[in-house]
Amino acid sequence: MIIILEENVTEKQIQRITEKLVDKGFDIHRSTGASHTVLGVVGNTQSVDTRDFEVLEGVHEVLRVSEPYKLASRTFQSENSIVKVGKVKFGGKKIGLIAGPCSIESREQIKKIARLVKKTGTKILRGGAYKPRTSPYSFQGLGEKGLKYLQEAGKINNMAVVSEVMDRMDIIPALKYTDMIQVGARNMQNFALLKELGKIDKPILLKRGMSATLKELLMAAEYIMAGGNHNIILCERGIRTFENYTRNTLDISAIPILKKLTHLPVIADPSHGTGIRDKVVPMARAAIAAGADGLIIEVHYDPDNALSDGAQTLYVAQYQELVKEIKIIATAVGRTI
Ligand code: PEP
Ligand code: MN
Repeated sequence: MIIILEENVTEKQIQRITEKLVDKGFDIHRSTGASHTVLGVVGNTQSVDTRDFEVLEGVHEVLRVSEPYKLASRTFQSENSIVKVGKVKFGGKKIGLIAGPCSIESREQIKKIARLVKKTGTKILRGGAYKPRTSPYSFQGLGEKGLKYLQEAGKINNMAVVSEVMDRMDIIPALKYTDMIQVGARNMQNFALLKELGKIDKPILLKRGMSATLKELLMAAEYIMAGGNHNIILCERGIRTFENYTRNTLDISAIPILKKLTHLPVIADPSHGTGIRDKVVPMARAAIAAGADGLIIEVHYDPDNALSDGAQTLYVAQYQELVKEIKIIATAVGRTI
């Protein structure tokens, strides 16, 4: 249920309405839009008679939200959410770029890649320290040491950094060393992890599970938001289909659909979305043309010897060229970079 307040509502009136709801055992999430303040009422509101609230002073309208995701829905908040990561704002007119290796391999490796991608104007560096690998015998990441290297590389190059957590235990180091925490595809429905991430105030990059519907992705975001953390960027990273030419099928249609259903920013990951280096560039172009608020792309100076995901990782020169193209496409669809 959402309560749209009058334009000239006073703080005292908001307090009265809020108290009445809290007394009934509901959680309240306040959102201040350009014209109206909205109260999102979370809990089992089925038995509530909306008229009891409609008559209160300061209330403009009471609406029932039909979607199971309440806080993430456009009904709750019609304006785009802006999620700030370092100096980059996702969800506005500007497109945000995130680039870097799949895994942090050494201090030198991440520093060198940071310097190279920074030259293209990219302001956010990616790199995995806790790696969700299909085989237990594959490189598992450098753990906390890797996060330290990532933070150092970010600081030297004046870039914000993002890295994935797989377990609740990883959150403490991630809070210390990163500017945004990634939840990977394999953990999109790790509800214990999502609940913990709801309690912090760092931005979360939430990737779509490889077999998750868009509703399930939005419900995963809802888990984090229900805990109080509304700083979420959604990421389409490809789903499993019957097609096996590509590693995953990048669902470009998810971008305009999500943009309609939710106010949260939506970015695309064409690296995991295709798994094939020469398919990354065309899909990155397509994602921006389809309305994505940003891209996350794997880049390495030596992808052929990368410790993970080399086959889908762009050479630096390819990434430089892509950034130039993205600028042109962004302009064509009324965005900037
Ligand atoms: C990654 O970003 O390195 C990663 C493992 O992504 P995903 O969870 O989308 O597979
Ligand atoms: Mn990867």
